[in-house]
Amino acid sequence: MQPFSYAQVTSETDAIASLNQDENAVFIAGGTDLLGLMKDGVQGANKLVDINNLPLAEIEFTANHLRIGAVSRLSDVASHRKIQENYPVITQALQQSASPQLRNMATVGGNLLQRVRCGYFRDPAFPCNKRTPGIGCAAITGYNRMHAIFGASEHCIAVHPSDLAVALTALDAVIWIQGIETERRVSIHDFYLLPGETPDKETRLQPGELIVAIEIPDYLYNKQSHYLKVRDRTSYEFALVSVAVALEVEEKIIKSAHIALGGVAPKPWRAWETEKLLQGKEVNAATFRDAAIATVQEAKPQQHNEFKIELVKRALVRALSVVAAKS
Ligand code: SF4
Repeated sequence: MQPFSYAQVTSETDAIASLNQDENAVFIAGGTDLLGLMKDGVQGANKLVDINNLPLAEIEFTANHLRIGAVSRLSDVASHRKIQENYPVITQALQQSASPQLRNMATVGGNLLQRVRCGYFRDPAFPCNKRTPGIGCAAITGYNRMHAIFGASEHCIAVHPSDLAVALTALDAVIWIQGIETERRVSIHDFYLLPGETPDKETRLQPGELIVAIEIPDYLYNKQSHYLKVRDRTSYEFALVSVAVALEVEEKIIKSAHIALGGVAPKPWRAWETEKLLQGKEVNAATFRDAAIATVQEAKPQQHNEFKIELVKRALVRALSVVAAKS
């Protein structure tokens, strides 16, 4: 492991200044992903800037939003009673993330920025364009059961690993980012990038910027939401496929649908076309089956993951049925 220095900061200004003094410095909060990457030689850093003491762990309900500070622990968000009542899709996504021990340590901001779980990325013995641009992708010709069926490129086929990000994508969350002089807000849809020719660039976060909070708009349909995760074992495992659904239903007619998929693309995959198809349709099994078929129209499986197509269809029908039954 590369030697590094360590600094604690107590203000956002100091945190950003500290990072901008050294281009090989990185923020650390829970460290549940970063330390593993450093130990495995996947990521190096000269300096760790500890942001755990920043005043960014508040969970607030304003007139129009739920605002979650970036260093809030996953366990604190998951156990928040008002979030459980009003945003079940967030609670369920968190309860199925990692393990209780990791959720006690990991932060919301860190969760959104965790790196991909592609085994070839995490083993420096293999070529990986995300780790070292231009050297090739071992997964494309290797074992790619866990990889993407949407949004991949010839340079990278890894999937985004966060459950929380999928739930937040279905709810149109906004990410607040602090830079040296300015604060800006970015829709979660724009925040994550597809790999294209630059798989090493995963988000719109610029060097030296800090995520300070996540805001989720307050819509009535947030209550009518559900997160379904399909994985190889029921604890401490990443999604083969996951579905976040929120529905607005009046007298058995779908007024609006909000759907995001996880485990299938390099970013949380919003099913925009499926949402349009569902709008104005009656809640019934045929509607959900048509939606499922439409959702996988553009899927492009890898050699070992064609099974994800059927899994997406079944998971989506199940998640829609669960929410419809509550509506
Ligand atoms: Fe690297 Fe992406 Fe290929 Fe995995 S899929 S080896 S992360 S380039």
